Amino acid sequence: MNQRLKTYLDAEIASLKSKGIFRMPRVLQTAAGPRVRMDGRDIIQLSSNNYLGLTTHPKVVAAAVRAVEEFGAGPGAVRTIAGTMSLHLELEKRLASFKHTDSALVFQSGFTANVGVVSTLMQEGDLIVSDELNHASIIDGCRLSKADRAVYRHLDYDHLRELLKAARRKSTGKILVVADGVFSMDGDVSDLKAILAACEEHDAIPMVDDAHGTGVMGRGGRGTVDHFGVGDRWDIQIGTMSKAFGVMGGYVCCARELMEFYAHRARPFLFSSSHPPAVVAACSAAVEVMETEPQWHERLWENTRFFKEGLKRLGFNTGGSVSPITPVIIGSGARAARFSDELFARGVFAQGIFFPMVAEEKSRVRTIVMATHTRKDLEEALGIFEEVGRQLGVI
Ligand SMILES: *Cc1c(COP(=O)(O)O)cnc(C)c1O
Repeated sequence: MNQRLKTYLDAEIASLKSKGIFRMPRVLQTAAGPRVRMDGRDIIQLSSNNYLGLTTHPKVVAAAVRAVEEFGAGPGAVRTIAGTMSLHLELEKRLASFKHTDSALVFQSGFTANVGVVSTLMQEGDLIVSDELNHASIIDGCRLSKADRAVYRHLDYDHLRELLKAARRKSTGKILVVADGVFSMDGDVSDLKAILAACEEHDAIPMVDDAHGTGVMGRGGRGTVDHFGVGDRWDIQIGTMSKAFGVMGGYVCCARELMEFYAHRARPFLFSSSHPPAVVAACSAAVEVMETEPQWHERLWENTRFFKEGLKRLGFNTGGSVSPITPVIIGSGARAARFSDELFARGVFAQGIFFPMVAEEKSRVRTIVMATHTRKDLEEALGIFEEVGRQLGVI
């Protein structure tokens, strides 16, 4: 190995180890269910984004198998060359209908959707205004764009309005206001009504990344735009199919003109191949299940209420979460890593989350319940949280 490279890497890795947060991912040996085998142990899974249990839903799995048999293993080309299959268009139609928008365009992942949608639309002379806790893929989309950037304090819409007002005094360019719908580290939610009002006051374009909102918030899981009832005036909704949909892929739901613009200009769409048939078909089936089997969404919320109240009753600091994501804020990174390890030793997996994902002193373990957890799973998990909490002096 190049000596300079080796010296650099050794220092980086030593720094992670000295902070007590060097961890390679644990290995899942079963499907992503509510109870899994991981690193050779049977555990209760509290770190999956498979909110509704759709990764293993029989209709979703069957759709994937059928599509491989009929359409083969891969798409054969980038979509704009020869890789757009009828399956892709069917999925986009279903997504648009589920979200009540004119159109949808599917990307390989939520990450590439954000990078493509933000960087393609926003040019030199434009401005992107972003919540300070927005997802890394939004931030990377901003970095790839030549537009100016401004950041408003987390959920602080007075600050957002100030920034917009100041910007409009100077500029007649496009302004994009972008926020996560549900924030992945804290489980709190953007107030889309407040964002829309600020956008309308200052002629800005509202965009939400509903990766953790879709399948979770709104009627039947239609997302935060539906939850806040702003659908008729909201321009851009991003989402992923790797979370509640239980599969893989990103999308933008928007007006037809915007979809057509992205289909001609967004670089991740133009220069990278799209989903293989099995994935597209599984995504379509997942949307259909969400529309026809509302019980999963209902159970997700029953479990959320039960588990969140349980953690609070035990005296844990669960922050401002109003979604199935409930952080248990511990303190330093080393302490949160230890907490996560102790949980694992007793049969619960809740991932430790450290800097740079969150501020060092707000290191945490993050819990996410699923519709398919039983009451017994959650009671057992609460018992283990209580034991570890007392052992480490967190409660
Ligand atoms: C997970 C996530 C993404 C990325 O989605 P992938 O499909 O996994 O690439 C984007 N934005 C937010 C807010 C997310 O939580």
